[in-house]
Parts: sequence; C-alpha cells; structure tokens
Amino acid sequence: MAGLSDDLRLLADGLSVGVIRLDLDLMVRYANPAAHVFAGRPAGGLVGRSLMEAFIDRRIEELAETARRSGSASGELTLRSADGLSLVVRARRTSDGDATWLTLEDVSELRRLQRIRREFVDNLSHELRTPLTNVSLLAETLVRESEAAGEQIPARMRDRISKIEVETGHLVQMVSELLDLARIESGRPMVLLDVVDLARLAAASADRLRLFAERQGVQLVVEVPAAGVPRVNGAEERLGQVIINLVHNAVKFSPDGGDVTVRVDVQGSTVVVAVEDRGIGIPRGSQDRVFERFYKVDRARVRGGGTGLGLSIARHVIEAHGGRIWVVSEEGRGSTFSFALPIAAPNGTPE
Ligand code: ADP
Repeated sequence: MAGLSDDLRLLADGLSVGVIRLDLDLMVRYANPAAHVFAGRPAGGLVGRSLMEAFIDRRIEELAETARRSGSASGELTLRSADGLSLVVRARRTSDGDATWLTLEDVSELRRLQRIRREFVDNLSHELRTPLTNVSLLAETLVRESEAAGEQIPARMRDRISKIEVETGHLVQMVSELLDLARIESGRPMVLLDVVDLARLAAASADRLRLFAERQGVQLVVEVPAAGVPRVNGAEERLGQVIINLVHNAVKFSPDGGDVTVRVDVQGSTVVVAVEDRGIGIPRGSQDRVFERFYKVDRARVRGGGTGLGLSIARHVIEAHGGRIWVVSEEGRGSTFSFALPIAAPNGTPE
C-alpha cells in the first residue's frame, strides 16, 4: 500500500526523520510518525492532504513542486506553525515520475546551539580582547621604560619584562585567531562586497610585517606586475589577514639572513598571491595537514609559538571567496604558499 512494503514501513516508523510520499498531484499518500509530529497532526492525519494544508507553509509545497518538475530540490525552512521548528527538507521525484518523496530533518537544536555559540563567541571576543590589549600595551610601556632606566634595573629583571611582552603578544595573537576561527565556523556568511586590488593589499600587508622581518634578520621582497592586476571581489580585511598570516609564517620559519618573496600575478582567470621562503620546509606527509585546525608539523621546531590555527583560518577565508589555497614545499629548502581568487566580472571593477 502506498508503495511501502511492511519492512520499509517498520523502518520508516522508527526514524526520527520525517518521510512523506506525495502522489502526482502532490497530495500526501504516506507519512511516517515523525512527519506527523513535525506537522502537529495525530497519526494518519496527514494522508489525503496537500502539503500547504498539512504544514501551513507555502515554501514546502514549492520545494515539492520544483522536485516534481526538475527531479530534486532541497531547502531549510522554519515553521511558524510549529514553535519555529527548523526543518531541512529534501524532495526527490521517483524515476517513473509518479511520486515525490520528501524527507524532513529537524535541525532546530543544531541551529539553537549554533546561535548560542555565536553569541558566546561575540561576548568572549569583547570580554577577552579589551583586557588583553591593555595588558599588552602596559607590557610594551614597561619594556620601553625599563630600557630607558638602563642599569638602574637589574638585567635579569629587564629580560623578564621583555619576555612578558613577547608572551603577551602570543596570547593576543592566539585569542584573536581562536575568535576568528570560531566566528568563521559559526556559519555566519562572509560579506564579500569589497573590490580588492591584491597587488596593493599584498604590498601593504608585507609592509606591516617589515619590522618583524628585520628583527628576525629576514629580507622581505614584494613583486607585482608593473601594470597591476585585475580586481577580485571579497572581504578586504580578511584577505589582508590571510596574506599577513602567510608572510608571518614564512618569516617565522626562515633562517637568519633568509629572504621572503611575496609575488602577485595573473594566472588564467585568477589572481594568484604566492609567498615564498627558503626556510625549513614541510615534509611531504604534512603538506595537506598544515591546513587543519591546530596542526603543527613539529612542535619543537616552532620558534615564537603559534596556535596552529592561522592556515585553517586562511583556508576558510579563501574557500569562502570561491578560491583555492595550496602549498609546494621541500624539506630543508623552503615553502611557497599560494592562493588563487577568481577575477571579478567587468562590472565588479571600478575602472
Ligand atoms: P602556526 O604558525 O600558528 O603554528 P599555522 O596554521 O599558520 O599555525 O601553521 C601550521 C603549521 O604549518 C605550523 O605550525 C608549521 O609547522 C607549518 N608551517 C606553516 N607555514 C610554514 C612555512 N612557511 N614553512 C614551514 N612550515 C610552515
């Protein structure tokens, strides 16, 4: 009956996912108990009704209609009729075209937890960032003052003060990366409304790290085509963070006296930014894994700490832009991290 054998009916009865079979004119022919619960109807109360009648929501009927026409459709909807229940609905037409099957998955709890996480991260970012920034400014001032005081302050004490400054810097970096990652992963879509000149952004980002590079004895070189590069669409601040992260790593893993080159050019329909170093390199087996959260090739060899989050944030950001990020590296010889972003459509460029 209704195309469901006893065996399958037993299976469908036990599922927490709603299952509905619609006939040609999109009337419910079969619905399992979970579907009845979602619709707030007593057992059997869905059969013979239209989806609109059953759920008092036009979008679910539109999904079924699309699936009947084109084979499949899916979407997420929040039912006002059922205490704001969030359902992921997938609709598929049978191969003979006589029926359409719907599955309804309740994602309300997941969405609720995501919302809580997002709010928690927002609050945490305010609560943590402010005192940390203050501590870091105070540490900076202390370093300056203790240097000015010279011999009046014992060398050991000055050394400790400067270590406090360095460690505070790491803490600030870690908190900011953790929050960035949590924010990106919370599913809030990235706003990609800027028209970005990657050549200019790469030069500006490299400039911000020039002092850090000098301190490490590393020379920073930026190479961009004289004619410039086409614009890309994106979130400029996020892309700047990605470049800074790649350059920061390249400097961090370079030997004293090494050099790091930031190169921007056009390849096919993309603009590619590559950051090349002649540092310690990455073993072949780890090259894919460096983009995972918290992954570090070898904790012992990291100078200056790090969270292992920078590259996973970078990958999130680049993929949210419809781009690709990758590394080519040889152990002991160096690494080149590159990302490619699609060139903006002509109407997206201001020229
Ligand atoms: P972090 O640098 O904070 O540890 P990342 O996600 O930026 O975190 O990098 C992950 C790991 O990838 C690093 O710990 C390091 O082992 C490796 N790595 C990244 N960039 C380079 C590089 N330019 N040269 C060598 N190893 C690198």
